[in-house]
Amino acid sequence: MLDQLEELEAVARTLEPTADLRSEIQNQAFEYTGQFIESLAQRPGFIQADCPNLSALQVTEQGKPFEELLALLRDEVNNAGINPASGCHLGYIPGGGLWASSVGDMLAAATNRYAGIFYASPGAVLIENQMIRWLCSLVGYPSTAHGNLTSGGSIANLIAIQAARDAHGICSANVRQAAVYFTAQVHHCVHKALRITGLHEAIQRVIPMNDHYQMDTAALEVAMKKDREAGLTPFMVIASAGTTDTGAIDPLDAVAGLCEQYGAWYHIDAAYGGFFLLLDEYREKFRGIDRADSVVMDPHKGMFLPYGSGAVLLKDAQKLIAANTHQAAYMQDAYGLDEINPADCGPELSRPFRGLRMWLPLHLHGVEPFRAALREKVLLCRYFHEEIQKMGFETGPFPELSVTMFRYPGKDPEVFNRKLMDLLHADGRVFFSSTQVDGRFWIRCAVCSFRTHLAEIRIALDMIGECVANLI
Ligand SMILES: *Cc1c(COP(=O)(O)O)cnc(C)c1O
Repeated sequence: MLDQLEELEAVARTLEPTADLRSEIQNQAFEYTGQFIESLAQRPGFIQADCPNLSALQVTEQGKPFEELLALLRDEVNNAGINPASGCHLGYIPGGGLWASSVGDMLAAATNRYAGIFYASPGAVLIENQMIRWLCSLVGYPSTAHGNLTSGGSIANLIAIQAARDAHGICSANVRQAAVYFTAQVHHCVHKALRITGLHEAIQRVIPMNDHYQMDTAALEVAMKKDREAGLTPFMVIASAGTTDTGAIDPLDAVAGLCEQYGAWYHIDAAYGGFFLLLDEYREKFRGIDRADSVVMDPHKGMFLPYGSGAVLLKDAQKLIAANTHQAAYMQDAYGLDEINPADCGPELSRPFRGLRMWLPLHLHGVEPFRAALREKVLLCRYFHEEIQKMGFETGPFPELSVTMFRYPGKDPEVFNRKLMDLLHADGRVFFSSTQVDGRFWIRCAVCSFRTHLAEIRIALDMIGECVANLI
């Protein structure tokens, strides 16, 4: 047995590279990321390409040299599709990719702190909880609030909706009498969450919007009143603070009043819009957000973190904990709390130490540059909105945040704008995405990358001008 152990150990130890090999790999990796970042200004926002060598790569018994693997990443992963690290990504809602976060991820993964439970890593949990408290303070929540750092907005919405379901005791016996209210502009992850939680069996009321794509609160009131009178339970209203298509913010304060009146859970999806709370001039538009029972925001959007960072916040932490705490015999050492355990605030037990990728840039840079960047995004979007109109385009409403939509008017705008979208993708200098609003085709411009500045918007406008000229 001892001989066998010795043999196995010799092979198993190759999982632990020597100090020399580690620094060689580390240097190559950092040299590459350095070159990647330096070359971003010259890189297109979108490349249509295949990944032939990657497709052919087999998992083998023996390892391969790091150079070979890095080359695949460089040539095929980072050279095909949308480039979300680029300031020329203006499609969907761009994520960020702050470099300091990548250092945080490296440190978090290499030291592998267990961020699920306080006693396992008091420091890691403290960092996460401090980040959550900072987000709660942005929303204006009291000290009874808490939340969870998640992989993104979809899971954050799911956690909030499940907590709402459990707090209101919605179950198979009463779900068909429970009503949920939202507009047609609600993010599709809400529908996924309703299905996962069984709430797709509840009554779903799609509330009409005004011409700024905001929830019509008079219509919401009528719907809730009618449901109540019919013996149904107005259970939850889901408002959006920054819709994906146009960045619309629902009338948050007015909706809060109705939720209080009808005893409904009030959830706000601010995955995209939430970080604009950092700007004083947006305080009025977000008035009432602190009256919500739950709020979602995505640090991988408005805080420019790499993908994999969302947050759910509940005004009453106990409701979040009640919806997620389970005791297990093999976890008996973990109970007795000094800090709330992240594992008691969501479905995950083991989880990455997500707080570090947010904590590091926030403390390294301070808040000021985040405010400046968000304010810059708003102005860049307004500039784009004005300039694109001068070029003869029809636009959506004046952008409330940093998203606008545009289409070229004319004889057959549906066909023309689809062709234009294809040409813009084929050009690829700047990446845009399209949508369908009220049955009409629109191209969207979403400014949300910390790397988007005036130069990128000018490239975008030039590119659009050239593509239109090619089509007319
Ligand atoms: C991006 C977004 C989501 C989904 O978040 P993911 O992080 O992509 O899971 C949900 N709601 C809104 C309003 C969003 O902008």
